[in-house]
Amino acid sequence: MSIPPVPNSFRTLFSGLLDLVWPRSCYLCDQRIDTATRSGCVCSTCRGELTSDSAATCPRCAETVGPHTDTTAGCMNCRSRRFSFAGAVRLGAYQGKLRDAVLLAKHEGGEPLAEELGALLGTTRTAPLNAVAAEAVVPVPLHWQRRWARGYNQSEAVARGLAHVLGLPCRPRWLIRTRPTAQQRLVSAAARWENVRGAFRTGFGVRVRGVRILLVDDVLTTGATVDAAAAALMSAGAAQVSVAVIAHR
Ligand SMILES: [Zn+2]
Ligand SMILES: [Zn+2]
Repeated sequence: MSIPPVPNSFRTLFSGLLDLVWPRSCYLCDQRIDTATRSGCVCSTCRGELTSDSAATCPRCAETVGPHTDTTAGCMNCRSRRFSFAGAVRLGAYQGKLRDAVLLAKHEGGEPLAEELGALLGTTRTAPLNAVAAEAVVPVPLHWQRRWARGYNQSEAVARGLAHVLGLPCRPRWLIRTRPTAQQRLVSAAARWENVRGAFRTGFGVRVRGVRILLVDDVLTTGATVDAAAAALMSAGAAQVSVAVIAHR
């Protein structure tokens, strides 16, 4: 027996009543969110700012580059590096409202915002993301101790929002962080590669052989973390790993 659909007029009435009882405001500026967009966490003004990055970026590492820079072999920052991932796409640079959003998304209650950021990444960077031709979306995992302390993994929520928009499966159990690592932002740039080397492996019984994977994190700085995670997937036989992040720092 199928359940009859809820009439739109009823939904509008219900949503309107909900607005009266519990007015919803934007996570980033406290402006009221109107009924039509109440499924989102941010107002249309903030959404516009979050998706306004028009800078040319390096296709290998997502760093901002000059408009006429030749990036066929990468940019000045990544040309000398060998990555285990094929390329990187970002929603924007780590500044202004995007930085605020990434920081808020890390905290308790930030999960819907992280998911929305993932969805915005998918709807804003459609062409480069489709070009990757990924078959599954995999978030960079937290070590279980940190996940337990924080309550959730923001990269997993970003990956969920992105996977939904791209119509791809999200596979948070495909990668495991094998040991707790010092937070990358507290480690010197040179030590970051050593800090995360060998810190990931694929989950027990997971088969990634021949699969094209889109690896998701919230922020990419040197690329050391996503590189270590991509290396684990590639050594398990993945066909290709590409990276998608909310912000490049
Ligand atoms: Zn706002
Ligand atoms: Zn680069």
